Amino acid sequence: MMKKNRHACVFLDRDGVINQDNPHYVYQLKKFKIMHRVIEALQKLYQHHFLLIVITNQAGISRKIYTSQDMETCHAYLQKKCQYIIHDFYHAPYHPTVSQSLSRKPGTLLFEKAIAQWFIDPQKSWMIGDKHTDILPAKTLHMQTIQITNDDQNSIAHYLSQNLWEATQIILNQLKKKQIHHY
Ligand SMILES: [Mg+2]
Repeated sequence: MMKKNRHACVFLDRDGVINQDNPHYVYQLKKFKIMHRVIEALQKLYQHHFLLIVITNQAGISRKIYTSQDMETCHAYLQKKCQYIIHDFYHAPYHPTVSQSLSRKPGTLLFEKAIAQWFIDPQKSWMIGDKHTDILPAKTLHMQTIQITNDDQNSIAHYLSQNLWEATQIILNQLKKKQIHHY
């Protein structure tokens, strides 16, 4: 029997990778600022046949600071801006002060759900995040990792980069080196 190929995916953290982060949560459209060259980066990855999946902690929902509808409005705006190329969004609405959850990063559960639902090969996949808690679960699942950071000497990520555009170049260079084709 022929073994069907699993997909390569680029998992993305949202706040601090796609849009500017804010310690008070980002949930209003007017404060949802997509960062420089992010749309272009997403389109490049899409053209190279990666699935694009956002994995985001949104604890402000369980803390009742905003609603999941507020979050959906931001995601719909992002989808429109990038021409609907993001395959899926997974979010953990929980916060330790309200309820514990394995879904919340650094838990691996949201990643595992996505891997099962989208038939993903973690070893062909990448996680791009700006925090240790993004990188840790991805490494546990044997993905390649890139941390967006200006200076994190304690990073456990495979690669560091300044922004999503630079991270995209790292991924595409790896593809070229290995001459991997996903299709
Ligand atoms: Mg982040």
